[in-house]
Amino acid sequence: MSMTIHNRLPEPEILKMEYPIAPDLAEMKRARDAQIREVFTGASDKFLVIIGPCSADNEDSVCEYVSRLAKVSEAVGDRLILIPRIYTNKPRTTGAGYKGMLHQPDPTRAPDLYRGIVSIRKMHIRAMGESGLTAADEMLYPENRSYLDDILSYEAIGARSVENQQHRLTASGMDIPVGMKNPTSGDMSVMLNAVRAAQNPTSFIYRGYNVSTSGNPLAHCILRGFVNSRGECHPNYHYEDMMQLIRDYRPDSFENPAVIVDTNHSNSNKQYREQIRIAKEILHNRQHNKDMRRMVKGLMIESYLEEGCQPIGEHMIYGKSITDPCLGWEDTRRLIDTIAEMCV
Ligand code: PEP
Ligand code: MN
Repeated sequence: MSMTIHNRLPEPEILKMEYPIAPDLAEMKRARDAQIREVFTGASDKFLVIIGPCSADNEDSVCEYVSRLAKVSEAVGDRLILIPRIYTNKPRTTGAGYKGMLHQPDPTRAPDLYRGIVSIRKMHIRAMGESGLTAADEMLYPENRSYLDDILSYEAIGARSVENQQHRLTASGMDIPVGMKNPTSGDMSVMLNAVRAAQNPTSFIYRGYNVSTSGNPLAHCILRGFVNSRGECHPNYHYEDMMQLIRDYRPDSFENPAVIVDTNHSNSNKQYREQIRIAKEILHNRQHNKDMRRMVKGLMIESYLEEGCQPIGEHMIYGKSITDPCLGWEDTRRLIDTIAEMCV
């Protein structure tokens, strides 16, 4: 057999007992979840900013980033809800490269999956405790979300996973918002079908159990741009793209239609500074059109302490991305202020 089975990893319940969240943090998550839910149901007109590094590669720099975000959050909290991106597992286009803290708690060393599940739980709990903010992560491996389901306030299903049945079924049993990204091809019907599937009740096998779900009314769309058949990036955040999506995303067919725009990835062609212009364009369009204002509930932005990105190596710069290039801290702070000003 070409697969070698090593050790059995602890069940999520066991890991949660070993690394529990304190009652005050559990209460804080309940309150944040309720506030975020109100944005999706339309009860609140606050704007979501899901922001942070492409990959959460280092506990100290991630916690420092999230604590800085918490200070900014105090100043803009009447208009914005900031949700830090703490992404601990990374899809890879060709399979090669850093797969996130889950696989490699130390990016310069070999994968260690036991240490990985412990490290991501510890980092998320520390970030939550130090900042008072609950985070977003990508649901790359549906069965692993049980290790973090008492911690996260938002999960995204990535462009490479959105057509997968197990992701859609799992999303239908989650009680937090799940953002379905458009696939890398840009096919909007794949994304809308994923939202519809996640909103429906279903039954399936999860972690070896026979389970049934109630459907997730908070499942929604994320636009991240697309790649054409020649491998070229194209944006899908412009006014005409959004108006077409609003026409297809009908309130009589979906609960709580909502769009988050990812300003990096194929929308910026990874020209990370373009995220500033893209964010402003979307906020301008929201001011211009009331359907757009109702539908576009937030932005997803890639940002870290230092701008750009760097290869993994011996002398890495603290707080600089080792996957996609990110905005640096000063630009980030200014951009969040601008977003708040444009959300009046
Ligand atoms: C990401 O959010 O870093 C990411 C990998 O996104 P996508 O699935 O859109 O490529
Ligand atoms: Mn990224």
